[in-house]
Amino acid sequence: MSNSPKIWLSSPHMGPNELKYVQDAFATNWIAPLGPHVDGLEKDLQDFTGSNYAAALSSGTAAIHLALVILGVQPGDLVICQSMTFSASANPIAYLGAVPVFIDSEKETWNMCPKALEEAIIACESGKVSGKKQKPAAIIPVHLYGMPAKMDEIRGMAKKYEIPVVEDAAEALGSTYQGKACGSIGELGILSFNGNKIITTSGGGALLSDTEWMIKKARFLATQARDEAPHYQHSHIGYNYRMSNVLAGIGRGQMEVLADRVRQRRKNFTFYKNQLAGIPGISFLEEPEGYYSNRWLTCVLVEPEQTGGITQEHVREHLLKDNIESRPLWKPMHMQPVFSKAPYFGGKVAEELFEKGLCLPSGSNLTEEDLQRVVIGVKGALGT
Ligand SMILES: *Cc1c(COP(=O)(O)O)cnc(C)c1O
Repeated sequence: MSNSPKIWLSSPHMGPNELKYVQDAFATNWIAPLGPHVDGLEKDLQDFTGSNYAAALSSGTAAIHLALVILGVQPGDLVICQSMTFSASANPIAYLGAVPVFIDSEKETWNMCPKALEEAIIACESGKVSGKKQKPAAIIPVHLYGMPAKMDEIRGMAKKYEIPVVEDAAEALGSTYQGKACGSIGELGILSFNGNKIITTSGGGALLSDTEWMIKKARFLATQARDEAPHYQHSHIGYNYRMSNVLAGIGRGQMEVLADRVRQRRKNFTFYKNQLAGIPGISFLEEPEGYYSNRWLTCVLVEPEQTGGITQEHVREHLLKDNIESRPLWKPMHMQPVFSKAPYFGGKVAEELFEKGLCLPSGSNLTEEDLQRVVIGVKGALGT
C-alpha cells in the first residue's frame, strides 16, 4: 500500500452555510421532528426541479417505497424496473410482495431500453410472465450516474399502455432531459441525499410530483398515517419516513452549492476524458443531444481486446495500490442471487457494461493533483 492520501470515489462536500442552518435548528430547539428547515428544503427542491410538490424523507429508498404504496402496488403485482441499478431501486418492490420485472439497458445512456420495455409490457399483459394477464403497476427507469434515461420513449410507452412512471433520480439531481429536471418528469420522482450522492444530508431523500394528493399522501404515510383526531387514530398502515429538521438544515446549505457541485463534477469528467480518451480501449459515455448529466460519477469502459488484455478489474486493483478507490458499475439486478428468479427482458447490454465499466473518483472536492494521480494510475495500469 502506498502512503499517498486516500482518494475516495465520492465523499461529502459541505459548503459555507450547512452548519449555520444546523445551528439555527439547535438555537430554536427544532431538533425534532419536523420544522421550518424541512419546509425550506422542500421549497428549494420544488424551485430547483420545477416539480410542484416535494416531500423530504428519511432516504431515497423510503421515497421509492412510498411511491409504490401511493400507486397502490399490491402483493403479486408486476413492477417493471431497470436491471442495471443499485438494489435500492428494486428492493421496495419486494417489500410490497410485488414481483420485479427487470429490463436491459441500451448503449446510448446505459439506462432502460425502450424496446425491451415494450416487450416486457406485452408479455405481462398477455399472461406470459405470471401465468395471468397483468398490467404492470409501475415502471421504474433510473438515470444512472446522472445520465438521463430515454424519457420520451419510456414515457411514450407508459402513456400507450397507461402505466405510471416512478423516476429514480437518486443519482441525477442537477441533470436535465430536454431542459426538464430529472425527477420531475414521471408521475413521481425520487431523489437521494445519501452520503456519496452529489449533495448529502448525511442520509435522506425526497419524493417529487406535480400531483398534490400524491405528495400529501406521502407526508401522511411517512408520519405513521395518523388520522385527524386528538388521540392516535389509524385507518392505514403508516411508516416513519420523514426527514428530521436538523438534517434538512444540512440539505438547505447543500442546495445553495448544488449548481457548483454539478459544475465541479462535470469538470472532473472533462479532465478525465481529455487525459484518457485517446488511449485505445478506453471510452466514455457522451451526452446525446438534449441530455445534460450532472456527471455524478465519471465511468470508463475498458475493452480488453484493445488494451492488450487489461481489464477494468486490473485497473481497479492498480488504483487501489495507490490508495485510490474506484468501483465496478452496478451489477445488474437480474444477475443478483436475490433476484435470480425474477423475469428479465432484453439482451446482454447491462451485463457487458458491468464487465467492462469502472467508476473513477468523482467527488466535487477532488483537487487537480488528485485527478492527475488517478490519471497516472489508470495509465500505469494500461502500461501507457
Ligand atoms: C442511492 C440510490 C438509491 C437509494 O437512496 P438512499 O437514499 O441511499 O436510500 C436508489 N436508487 C439509486 C439508483 C441510488 O443510487
